[in-house]
Amino acid sequence: MKFAFYTLGCKVNRFESQALSQLAQSRGHEIVTQDADVCIINTCTVTSASDHKNIRAFHKLRRENPHAIIAACGCFAQTDPEKVQAQPEIDLVCGTADRAAILERCERMARGEADTASHSAPPTAFEPLPAGVPAGRTRALLKIQDGCDNYCTYCIIPYARGHVRSMHPDEVLSQVRQLVYAGIHEIVLTGIEISSYGHDLREDVDLVTLIERVCHEAPCVRIRLSSLEPRTVDEAFCRRLSVFPNLMRHFHLSLQSGSDSVLQRMKRKYTTEQYGEIITRLRTFFPRCSLTTDLIVGFPGETEQEFCETMAFIRRCDFADMHVFPYSPRSGTVAAAMTGQLSPGVKAQRAEQVKTLARTMRKNFLDGFIGETLEVLLEHSVRESVWSGHAPYDFPVRVHTQGGKNTLVTVRVTGRDAAGLFGEEVPISET
Ligand code: SF4
Repeated sequence: MKFAFYTLGCKVNRFESQALSQLAQSRGHEIVTQDADVCIINTCTVTSASDHKNIRAFHKLRRENPHAIIAACGCFAQTDPEKVQAQPEIDLVCGTADRAAILERCERMARGEADTASHSAPPTAFEPLPAGVPAGRTRALLKIQDGCDNYCTYCIIPYARGHVRSMHPDEVLSQVRQLVYAGIHEIVLTGIEISSYGHDLREDVDLVTLIERVCHEAPCVRIRLSSLEPRTVDEAFCRRLSVFPNLMRHFHLSLQSGSDSVLQRMKRKYTTEQYGEIITRLRTFFPRCSLTTDLIVGFPGETEQEFCETMAFIRRCDFADMHVFPYSPRSGTVAAAMTGQLSPGVKAQRAEQVKTLARTMRKNFLDGFIGETLEVLLEHSVRESVWSGHAPYDFPVRVHTQGGKNTLVTVRVTGRDAAGLFGEEVPISET
């Protein structure tokens, strides 16, 4: 049969879709982009906007695949199964549990057999799925962890993904070896909340230990980390990991707010003073590292004073970039029931202020690399003999080169424009 995969949301969803695509091929199916017999859409529910995007995607998929079986999995399907099942385009709903089984359920439905599986709670054990490179990408994703037990008051994820569960370290290393053997130059360790890696395992292994083992296992491969919970970055994290040149110097530390009273209402487990100490520590052990963050503006009850505290604090942090989200109430979360919900206008106006600052910070950070040389992993062709790829600091760089996809080249940066940095290739003889 012809299978098509459609992904919304985060790196974990992208990882799972590529893994399901691999499994579908290993079951003898063909992977297509349209006119499929089966479409599997991996949904997201992190904001109310995501829910609307899911439903628009259902319509689009049905239009492009009029006769296909359409199966919805992922976080939206997990938290709102009835709502998803009620969509006329959807034939089968599978939440975040037992991903691999979705293929068999689609095969049975294609044979005209009834779908007997019932909707279940998020799983309690980690479901290992094959790592790989999502379609059209170059960097491999490796999901090492799932679930979250932090229950930040604005977040729906713990309800969609369940409790923390980790891939066994031996399984992680085995998947890393397979990726190295496949010629991968960069592996992104991802998960829902990777900072809690190992909390559920009998072995005494945490995220720092795992990263050490992975960097040892693949010294010639770039290892990149997805989002980190700030408290993970303690002295041990910095001292033990700064010795690895193949650990990419980019850290995404979700701040969410720069006001202590808002952080308390969010149930985030650090203060701005502690966050400040953490990024000073990072910059000491990883000089010039790229520091990015997530920020929610317009959290319930956020006063003008609290917003000013946030603006002042993020200026002091001097991030390389910021992802800005106007607060989006998620039904079932504590914050959605809080008083002091702000108007969309106020949230939009505050988000625009932060985005303007983020643009300035990004320009300043990128300008610091003009005249320097950077190792760039080529990912996609922009036009003839011009390729774009990522530097260790996780921003895009364009270069004239005869190199191709998944090639590492050394680039002397000559300038910046709206799309990022650009430069000229440094001949191997000069590197
Ligand atoms: S750490 Fe907080 S924001 Fe992140 S997934 Fe867990 S509950 Fe959500």
